[in-house]
Formats: sequence, structure tokens, C-alpha cells
Amino acid sequence: MSRRRNTSQPDSDKKRKPLSLKDLSQLRKIFSYLRPHRVLWIVGFFFLLITMGTSLLFPKLLGGLMSSSAVNLRGNMAQMMGLLALQSVAGFFRVVIFVIVTERALAALREDLYGHLVHLPMSFFSSRRVGELNSRVASDTAQIGETLTTTLAEFLRGLSMVIGGIAILAFTSIKLTLFIVAVIPPFMIVTLFFGRFIRKYAKRVQDEVAASNTIVEETFAGIQTVKAFANEAWERSRYAKRIQNVVGLAVKGGYYRGAFSSFITFGLFGAIALVIWFGAGMVHEGELAAEKLNEFILYALFIGGSIGGLANVYAQLQKAIGATETIFGLLDETVEMEPVQAPAAAIEIGSIAMNEVKFSYPTRADVPVLKSLSFNLPQGQTLALVGRSGSGKSTIASLLMRFYTDFEGEFTANGASVASMNLQSWRSALALVPQDVLLFGGTIRENITYGNTDASDAMIIEAAKEANAWEFIDGFPEGLETKVGDRGVQLSGGQRQRIAIARALLKDPQLLILDEATSALDSESEHLVQEALDRLMKGRTSVVIAHRLSTIRKAHQIIVLDDGAVIESGTHEELMQKTGTYAELIKLQDVMGRGDREEEKSDQL
Ligand code: ATP
Ligand code: MG
Repeated sequence: MSRRRNTSQPDSDKKRKPLSLKDLSQLRKIFSYLRPHRVLWIVGFFFLLITMGTSLLFPKLLGGLMSSSAVNLRGNMAQMMGLLALQSVAGFFRVVIFVIVTERALAALREDLYGHLVHLPMSFFSSRRVGELNSRVASDTAQIGETLTTTLAEFLRGLSMVIGGIAILAFTSIKLTLFIVAVIPPFMIVTLFFGRFIRKYAKRVQDEVAASNTIVEETFAGIQTVKAFANEAWERSRYAKRIQNVVGLAVKGGYYRGAFSSFITFGLFGAIALVIWFGAGMVHEGELAAEKLNEFILYALFIGGSIGGLANVYAQLQKAIGATETIFGLLDETVEMEPVQAPAAAIEIGSIAMNEVKFSYPTRADVPVLKSLSFNLPQGQTLALVGRSGSGKSTIASLLMRFYTDFEGEFTANGASVASMNLQSWRSALALVPQDVLLFGGTIRENITYGNTDASDAMIIEAAKEANAWEFIDGFPEGLETKVGDRGVQLSGGQRQRIAIARALLKDPQLLILDEATSALDSESEHLVQEALDRLMKGRTSVVIAHRLSTIRKAHQIIVLDDGAVIESGTHEELMQKTGTYAELIKLQDVMGRGDREEEKSDQL
């Protein structure tokens, strides 16, 4: 029992201290986003000061109005209206300016956050879920924006009301003022105490909301699978469970907020009643003029109201700090390359080689995926990788793309270590046609030009023709401007593949990495895709993860992988001579090919 407490307590203590120095430094980071707009911000601040001043004077004039004689009534009323007019005008500008500044700062923060996130390495994305990141970029930043526009102004106005009000009261009666001041410290302590719990739950609610967003994201992205398995109800209940968690946590936080709020109300009105009782006593004794008591009561009310408001503001600030922590936590993650504006210098890739490469994915560090991989691929040649599913072929493609950089062994291009080459230059010289092609939701044109955004129409059409894609593109009424639907769902698998090939052709890479799709295409599309691939690979250094016999046959070398280890290597002829795995594999495919498509076979082999 006590052990359990010991293990959980220090952790939460460490994380959820009320407003610490670290929190303040978090806020400082946020302010760095306001800095470019500081002139405007200062102007807005000036208007805020005016509204602070007018709010402060309000109880005084109100008090005067209540106790003024018939003669003064008009003048007092005019003053009052003037004050209100000033407050409204200043308030208007204050809000408008703060909104302008905040939205600009927020845009910069969102841009930075997104810009930073896209530059993070693959290892980061394999351990995060898209929905969560989405929610961080959208709602956590919105939380901060709310704070900068409204909460901060309210906080300052409340604070000035408390401090200024007390100062004004001190002129009227020191004795009564001390009476008020005495009740403030207990309020502060209680605020800190409750604030800690309120913040804890606020943060957990935010996390849980992010988790529920993940479900929304993932299920809509994979809606076909959801429907194919008739899992709508199941997904709904999964989502409902998360949402119920949100409710549960929010309600728990609500208890603290409710308790806090009643404490404030009870304590505040109790204190005000006490002040009035005490003040009335002083009036009776002749220590205080009767009309001063009006003013005094009004100030006490306003100050009390502000303290009550501050509590809310404090809770808001806690939330914003929670959001800031997560956002800056993400901004602290190390990027794989510094964002650069200018295109990186071109590099000559030449021949590539790997020597004794061993690799495990960072998310499963204890499972070796590549055990020892060595090859030497001269410029202009083709290396084919074959092997069972899960043997590590796509992993090799990822290493070639430098998606993961933490591996043992050497990886060189033209004899120089690849790790020392600029990552952007490296990737600019490569093209990857992945195993499962996902297109972006725009047009066919946008998808083809993704690797070469300023290609001319003639070049695009040329690439599309070479990729055997032009025929079907031209067949669409809208041609290149045809929308492909979310992630390309409005195209067939073979069409998507040929778009990806056209994209690679247009990029004209020095090194081509091709992860052939395993999904069986019909003979005709397979033939079209194969033709396109042949054109793409011709005379180009290529690493091909091959499933088609024709691709494998033409390769200069073949590596056969099994469970992350190279078990055979050589040319097709060499490997066929041995009675090893490769010969088996070929025999198997041969038999299957004969059965499935008799006349096609002669063409492919
Ligand atoms: P297939 O022919 O089915 O495409 P493959 O040879 O391409 O298979 P890989 O994708 O390279 O296989 O996967 C090799 C091993 O690495 C598998 O056991 C897989 O579970 C594991 N693996 C792949 N991607 C990751 C990842 N991001 N994190 C952790 N493990 C991974
Ligand atoms: Mg694969």
C-alpha cells in the first residue's frame, strides 16, 4: 500500500509543481514569438493600461454618484459617461490589436512546429501517431492563442484592480485596507493548491482528446478497411471509450474547479460582508465618513470580483502552460536535417556499397532486422533483392534513403562515407518507387511533378508516356488535372504505380530504389508496368526489390535474403546452377506463372 504511494507520488510531484521557474521559461519562449510584433503589442498594451485605469476609477465614480447631491449629480453622471466611453474605445482597440498580434505569432508558431515536425527523422514518426501530432498542431496552439489574446489581458487587468484598488483604499482607511489585505494570502495558498490539481487534469484531458483524435484520423484514413470488416460499431465504441475518458477526467478536474470556485465565492463574500460590518462599525464610531463607506464597499466588491476572476485566469494559464510544454517538447526533438531554403548542392553518387551493415529499428532495438549485409553496386548496374516476406528488403530501401541512420557497418558512395554527405543533396539524387504507392490528394499533375515542381507540360507528358501512364491519363476528361482522391483512392493500384514511375522518371535520379509491389496485377497492366520499369532502370544505378522474374533475370547481381541475412548472391545464371533457395524460388514462380498465364510467360522470361 505505502509502496505504491511511494512509487507514484514523487513522479507526479516532480511534474506538476505550481508555476515553477521552468514554466516561466516556457512562457518566455512563447514571448519570443511576440517579439517581431512588439511595437504593435506595446500599442495594444497601452490600450490595456487605459482600460486598467478606467476600471480602477469606475468604483470611485460610482461611489461618488451614489452619494452625490442633486447639484453634483449631472456633473458626476457626465464624468461617468466619459469614463465609460473611454473604456469602450480603448477596449475595442485593445482587443483588435491583441487579436492581430496573437494570430500572427500563432501562425509563426504553427509554421515552426509543422516545419520542425516534417524535418524530424522517420524514427520519430514510427513512434508517434498522426492524429496526436495533428491535435498538437491544431488545438494546443489554439490554447496558447486564447491565452495570449484574452487570458493575459484579463490577468493583468485583474491584478491591477487588486493592487490599484488596495492602494486607493489605503488612502481612505488604512485600518480597513489592512483588514482586506489580511485575507489575500490564504486565498493565494488555496489557489496554488487547487491550481495544481486543475492543471493536472487539464493536461490529462488534452492528452486524452489527442488520443481520441487519433482514432478519428486513423479510421477515416482507413475507412475502407473499417467498412470492409463492418467494424463501424466497434470503432464507435472504441471512440466512445476515449471520449468517456475525457469526460471522466474533465469531471474530476471539474470537482476541483467547482470546489475552488465555491471556496472563492464563500470566502470572498464572507470577507466582503466582514469588511462592510467592520466599516459600518467605523462609521458609527465616527472614524469613517458615511459616503466613504459606499466607495469602500464598491472597491471591496470589485477587488473581490477580480480575485475570483483571477482564479479562473490562473486555471487558463495552467492549461496554456501544459500546451506550451508539449509543443516545445516537440520543438526540442532533433531534426534529421536543418531546414534550408536554397536547394542543396548536387552530388555525384556513382557506385554504392554496403559493408557488414547491421540494423535494428529504434522502436524494437532488440530485434536484429539486418544481420550482416554487404554488396558493391557499380554505377549504372542493377542490384536485385529477393527473399521471403519480412526478410528485410524494404528495410534496405529505407537505409539507402537514409531514413534511419543508426546502423553498424559502412555505407559508401564512390568510396566516401554516405553519412558525411548532405542529406538533402543525397535524397535529391535518389528516387524511391515504394511498395505501396500512396498519392497525395491533389491532381495527377501535382503527383507527377512532386519530385520536379517546375517541369514543363511537355516533360510531364513525356514522362507519363514512358511510364505507360499517358494512355489512361489522356482518357480522363480532365487529363492531368484529374483529381486522384484522398491518397489516390480514385485510381487503380496499377495506375498509381505508373504515376509513381512517371514521378521517378521526371526526377531523373542517379540512384533508383524500386520496391516492386507484390500485389498481382493482371497480365496486361503487369506488362505495362514492367515496360515502364525497364525504361526507368535502363543505364541507371538501381536497387530493385524484385518479385517479377523478368526484373530479376536482367539484374547484374542478385542478393537472396533470409531473416535479415544474405544467404546467396550472384547472377541469375550462377544462382540457378546451385540448388539453393533462389533456384527453388524461381522454380516455384515458374510453375505458378505457367499455370496462370501461359502465353504471357514467354514474354516475361
Ligand atoms: P515484404 O516482402 O513483405 O515487403 P520485407 O522484406 O520488405 O517484406 P521489411 O519491411 O524490410 O520486410 O521488414 C523486415 C522486418 O523488420 C520485419 O520483421 C518487420 O516486422 C520489421 N519492421 C519493418 N518496419 C519496421 C519498423 N518501422 N519498426 C520496427 N520494425 C519494423
Ligand atoms: Mg517490403
